[in-house]
Amino acid sequence: MSELETVGRALAHARRIGVDRLDAQLLLAQQLGCARAWLLAHDDAVLASTDQEAVGALLTRRAGGEPLAYLIGVREFHGLLLHITPDVLVPRPDTETLVDWALELLADLDTPHVIDLGTGSGAIALALKQACPRARIHASDASPQALAVARGNGQRLVLPITWHLGDWWRPLDPALRFDIAVANPPYIAPGDPHLAALQHEPQAALVAQDDGLADIERIIAGAPGRLNPSGWLLLEHGFDQADAISKCLLQIGFSAVATRCDLAGQPRVSGGQWGAAMV
Ligand code: GLN
Repeated sequence: MSELETVGRALAHARRIGVDRLDAQLLLAQQLGCARAWLLAHDDAVLASTDQEAVGALLTRRAGGEPLAYLIGVREFHGLLLHITPDVLVPRPDTETLVDWALELLADLDTPHVIDLGTGSGAIALALKQACPRARIHASDASPQALAVARGNGQRLVLPITWHLGDWWRPLDPALRFDIAVANPPYIAPGDPHLAALQHEPQAALVAQDDGLADIERIIAGAPGRLNPSGWLLLEHGFDQADAISKCLLQIGFSAVATRCDLAGQPRVSGGQWGAAMV
């Protein structure tokens, strides 16, 4: 009998090669076109040889560290099911800290204009639009492939966003002014040991020069002149970057600078308000 001949044997094989049980079930369910619940009750169901081959290949890729989201093509973020390809970073629960902070700020505004810089899959922009339909949301990304993924997600979820192709603020009409700007930019330093576990994701979305701060500094430097008076800039960052970023925000003239922690209790998002002291 082949190692993958039945559901039960395929799951045992997955365990032997180090694939998490839930991941193995989701890969199997996708390949067989069944629900995960069906698998639980059909340990002895026999797999066709083409399914055995395909499941074997998927489990090997998962054991090699490819994110589950790339293998099944979807990922849940802030209650939305997003389509994900290797052209975009897999959305992380950490980023929900940024979304929730932006939503708190949006609650006080009538028809807010929002920009998500470096939108990737569109995760942040779409989560904000879903939770706050009255907000006018723009999103930019320098990668045409990423923007295509984001656009596709927007169409599928019927959430209208204005998409812009280009680096950070650059593609935006200089006359546009925003009440809230958010970004989850690349912030890992080149050569950081964490990158070993992230090799399947687009490096341009992860790595930034100057100890991981280069893109964050460009975003901060571009913010004056793009934000309305009292507008906010919120930036996701590495666990050890809050001080450097807060300093940079204060230097350029932001006030009310603060940092929030992610679900693991790590400082993860810093932000400030533009020109509030002058109003
Ligand atoms: N904004 C996207 C996200 O949070 C992409 C981030 C990135 O590519 N650095 O998932």
